[in-house]
Amino acid sequence: MIEERLRLARKSAGLSLRDVAKATGLSAMAISKYETGQLTPSSDRLLALAQALGVRVEYFFRPETLHLERVEYRKRSTLGKKALQRIEGNVLEQVERVVELLTFFPHSPTSRFELPAILSGPIDSLGEIEHAAEGLRELWNLGLDPIADLTSVLEEHGIFVVTCDAPAKGRFDGLAGHVDGFPVIVVGSDWPGDRQRFTLAHELGHLVLGERLASHLAEEKACNRFAGAFLAPARTVREALGEHRARIEPRELLVLKQELGLSMQALLFRAKDLGILPPSSFERAFREFSVHGWRADEPGEPVPPEHPRLLEQLAYRALAEDLIGESKAAELLGLPLGRFREERRLEPAHAAADQ
Ligand SMILES: [Zn+2]
Repeated sequence: MIEERLRLARKSAGLSLRDVAKATGLSAMAISKYETGQLTPSSDRLLALAQALGVRVEYFFRPETLHLERVEYRKRSTLGKKALQRIEGNVLEQVERVVELLTFFPHSPTSRFELPAILSGPIDSLGEIEHAAEGLRELWNLGLDPIADLTSVLEEHGIFVVTCDAPAKGRFDGLAGHVDGFPVIVVGSDWPGDRQRFTLAHELGHLVLGERLASHLAEEKACNRFAGAFLAPARTVREALGEHRARIEPRELLVLKQELGLSMQALLFRAKDLGILPPSSFERAFREFSVHGWRADEPGEPVPPEHPRLLEQLAYRALAEDLIGESKAAELLGLPLGRFREERRLEPAHAAADQ
């Protein structure tokens, strides 16, 4: 059991055997033998390994090793294999804590993600993607209102959301996959909120559209369309911008961005996709975006970033219901016990230093 966990921790830390040997003073050969189960490390050595790998010793003893399956990446091509392994290891480590926490509850406190029959037919046009997004909003009782906290909406419906520091800054948007039957969406933590929200909705698109897409529809484009439709429903956009426009002021897009939490650029695409702006006007506006450098960095206040809350919510609930003790809660939240106790008492001093 320990061997597989050791290897996973090393991969997710992005370290080679030699790096770990250097950090721990052990030989690379010994570490390799620990990872293949030919040798078992003593508790002192295990502690040294845990420190070098940035995990708690308990990590090595978690009962099962989960795997990330059926993965869809955004930006697949620009990230190296090592960087992806590191992201996957990081994601698994976070999801495992939620999965372990769930085992303490006699009845599952979360709902299971499932798509009803109305959202299960084949999809062979962009119009049907719009319908799928609208159908999901209806099913989840979201109406046509802006979605203030997308992560919470996903978590409430049985999708785990994980934020992840990408090893290559600015290169990793997100991915969707399954761990132990649970859908998981991962989003890079170093993006502005509007980009994270688009990524979350895009990955939701993979989960919803997935195998149902006709082969003539490119999946990435389809998921982008889904994301736009989910975050900015056609009716909402038409109410704000009108049915047909020859030109749209950038400031109109900025106002709508602040309302819907979707980037100005994504809204410009939305206006084109919905036939509000003719292609020539869209292209002119898009060039204007490039000239101002808005494609990389949009003007105005950034949309606040998204934060997963499920793990923390469940940990405190389990604690309140005496399903786990303080040290287990601290371990699952990845906090030293002293720090956890301060947070439990809602003492602000240390919590603020962590921001
Ligand atoms: Zn994708």
